[in-house]
Amino acid sequence: MKFNSHIANLPVYEAGKPIELVAREFGIKNKDIIKLASNENPLGSSKKVRKTLKKQAKNANLYPDDSYYELKDALANKFSVESKNIIIGSGSDQIIEFIIHAKASKDTAILQAGVTFAMYGIYAAAVGAKVYKTKSQSHNLEEMKEIYQANKDEINIIFLCLPNNPLGECLDANEVLEFIKSVDKDTLVVLDCAYMEFARFKDNAKFINPTNLIKTFKNVIYLGTFSKAYGLGGMRVGYGIANEKIISELHKLRPPFNITTPSLAAAICALKDDKFIKKTVQNNFSQMQIYEKFAKENNIKFIPSYANFITFFFEKQDSSKICDNLLKRGIILRNLKSYGLNAVRITIGKDKQNKMVLKELKKEI
Ligand SMILES: *Cc1c(COP(=O)(O)O)cnc(C)c1O
Repeated sequence: MKFNSHIANLPVYEAGKPIELVAREFGIKNKDIIKLASNENPLGSSKKVRKTLKKQAKNANLYPDDSYYELKDALANKFSVESKNIIIGSGSDQIIEFIIHAKASKDTAILQAGVTFAMYGIYAAAVGAKVYKTKSQSHNLEEMKEIYQANKDEINIIFLCLPNNPLGECLDANEVLEFIKSVDKDTLVVLDCAYMEFARFKDNAKFINPTNLIKTFKNVIYLGTFSKAYGLGGMRVGYGIANEKIISELHKLRPPFNITTPSLAAAICALKDDKFIKKTVQNNFSQMQIYEKFAKENNIKFIPSYANFITFFFEKQDSSKICDNLLKRGIILRNLKSYGLNAVRITIGKDKQNKMVLKELKKEI
């Protein structure tokens, strides 16, 4: 059977290995497995959310309110925008897909950092669009400007990942705003802020405020998610905030009921529990220090991270070997070989988990 030629060489996205698979493969009990591979919240989710989810069991037969009125209203209040500036996706991943379908084609290109979230390139390639990357691995706005200026007739979407997954660095908000000013009005700038709750806590200079952003720029979309700080990865809820015109175009591509009834209830409830976010973010950065200390003591290179993970770059050891060996001992980390890096991304876990990871990692270096 023939398929579209532009998907022929497309890699399958390599998600973090599931606990169940490791349990089966290595005969380790589920509860003894430490999974720090997908940037999930190690504290779980808010207690209030879990209570809400239990109550939702009886609504499994019902489609959600497809207008997502209550969730959009809560987000609109949180960000001081209007509901018409918001779109809900099955994860912010799905909004990235809408964006690509709304603007990219075989005659256009996207621009992104050298090493960044893989889905931008995958969705772009799936519609035959070209992908321009900077030579710099982390975000380099000067280089982005050069590539953009030289290929302006093709590039109509620019992705900035703030903070950047999988490297961890984060541009300052004022650099980002200056950059957007230099971009044509018909080019959409996507600010993927999946980890913004973390970055903002570490350094307020990183904070992108969607309120001012969409007032100032008509060609920008801010993406947020409930999957990381809110601990709702399994619920699949993300959101986009932009000018009304952009949102109404993206809505044409949204399938009905694209999040579930329990997901909707969970997201609404999660927005009311700021304490849980605070606890999450505090645990993250206090625990991250253990990793930084370990890296310094063992001469492992890392980029200071503004997110809920840290990436270790290895010189002598092979990252695949390290990940394979740890996997056999029930520790799931994210190998970055598929990004062309000899590096391992580790989600910051709970104290006990982190100590275990470092104890086992020590044996490999
Ligand atoms: C996790 C992540 C997302 C989106 O995750 P969803 O679960 O689809 O909301 C988007 N961008 C980046 C950079 C991420 O790491």
